[in-house]
Amino acid sequence: GVTGPQPEIERVPQGVDPHEPRSARVYDYLLGGKDNYEVDRALAHRILAVAPETRSLAWFSRKFLLHAVRTAATAGVRQFVDLGSGIPTSPNVHEVVHETHPAARVAYVDNDPVVFVHCNALMGNHPGVTALHADVRRPAELIRRLETESGIDFAAPVAITLVGVLHYVMDDENPAELVARYREAMAPGSYLAFTHGADISHPEIIERTSQDARNSSAQVRYRSRDEVTTFLDGLENTGPGVVPLQQWLADDLPETKLVLYGAVGRKR
Ligand code: SAM
Repeated sequence: GVTGPQPEIERVPQGVDPHEPRSARVYDYLLGGKDNYEVDRALAHRILAVAPETRSLAWFSRKFLLHAVRTAATAGVRQFVDLGSGIPTSPNVHEVVHETHPAARVAYVDNDPVVFVHCNALMGNHPGVTALHADVRRPAELIRRLETESGIDFAAPVAITLVGVLHYVMDDENPAELVARYREAMAPGSYLAFTHGADISHPEIIERTSQDARNSSAQVRYRSRDEVTTFLDGLENTGPGVVPLQQWLADDLPETKLVLYGAVGRKR
């Protein structure tokens, strides 16, 4: 996170490989955080060399997340599940939703051990806020843990956010299928918001983040607008629909070579 300690390679937490880039740490670096290693910064700089505006895009992405969460909170949702939450960055989901609903429940979920350590440390003194070390690719198990460990009640509306996560799920892991499991679990009045790497991104960006990062967990699978639209099957599309996420925020934000689609669906 922006305020976290500088990790040193000599005291790497268990289960962490400092020689393979991780999306959480590349993204942390783009946001100006300190929880990243040389290998993450190197990948970030290969992206920035082609598209320096990717730093701004990282912040637009945070803005989109908070916009989606605010939309759900304003509509009366009081439970928030942030999947692939990343290293904590302020303002975070709980800070935004507690403005509207001080007793709202918030669960942060990530499969990166570094993210979990930071989230867990931060959440200790916030009632109703929990951190889970879990994998979004195992929806049945995760939904059960959200109920038992985070107190999420799937019989009531919930807002599930998957911001910058699904493009790390490769085709053989069937992203459409796993998103369907979350949609099915949601009660009417629930929200599902995501962003996703778009195949209309600049070819050099696609090359650097899919070829360079091949076989690491930071490898990106860019998808078409039609492919990501299926993630909203059966939901009512809100706002401008499945469009580059800048269009969700303002009319005058610059385009970026790395294009992320943003979408917010609501269950009727
Ligand atoms: N959602 C945050 C945001 O937008 O600010 C962080 C985005 S970061 C680019 C992607 C995050 O997704 C990383 O923290 C990574 O560890 C997490 N992630 C990737 N694959 C995951 C999986 N299968 N299960 C849980 N988390 C995952």
